[in-house]
Amino acid sequence: MSLEERAARTRALEEAAAHASACRKCAIGSERRNNVYGEGDPCARLMVIGEGPGETEDKLGRPFVGRAGELLNKMLGAIGLAREDVYICNIVKCRPTLSTPSGLRNRAPDPPEIANCRPFLDGQIEMINPAVILALGAPAAKSFLGSTFAITKMRGRWYEGPHGIPLMVTFHPAYVLRQTGGEINAVKRMVWDDLKCVRTKLDEPPPQPPPEQPALFDA
Ligand code: SF4
Repeated sequence: MSLEERAARTRALEEAAAHASACRKCAIGSERRNNVYGEGDPCARLMVIGEGPGETEDKLGRPFVGRAGELLNKMLGAIGLAREDVYICNIVKCRPTLSTPSGLRNRAPDPPEIANCRPFLDGQIEMINPAVILALGAPAAKSFLGSTFAITKMRGRWYEGPHGIPLMVTFHPAYVLRQTGGEINAVKRMVWDDLKCVRTKLDEPPPQPPPEQPALFDA
């Protein structure tokens, strides 16, 4: 990819991030500390999409930091990718919270929030045009594949994502971290299987345009 193309994508992503930062379409837009638009290589071949910012992400304005982010970095490293090689974002750009007597807690984004934020996500996918999308967790998977998507049964296979981009679903790193006992090994094994599929897909040669018809076959 040319330096000009890379610079144009960087500029376009920065402009869209500024729009997202000014957005107050949902109540959480006024409650969050920072808008967490996304970060990474604007020319990435892999786009990683989670559900929404948590407390640390909200504080720092960056996606997948904190413990879940550290695990994501290790997951990417296991298939030979540095965090900087991919583009990372969420289906909603503001932290969805629940008010409890002990303070604000994270919650999954609700359908109106996901719908409101979808144009920002669609814009990112269009600008980056990755070879593969990896959706982390059920909310991200359902936003692409419908509300009946059952992650335990339906992860680990290829789906057609936006613009026909191959889409893989695996468990969210925060879910992996919540597992205990024997469950943790089973979940880690499934995540590893999914990541290997992603690596294989990324290693496939990109589709080539059909050859031009030689003069021999002209009418
Ligand atoms: S979640 Fe998205 S649509 Fe809702 S206020 Fe934040 S940026 Fe706007």
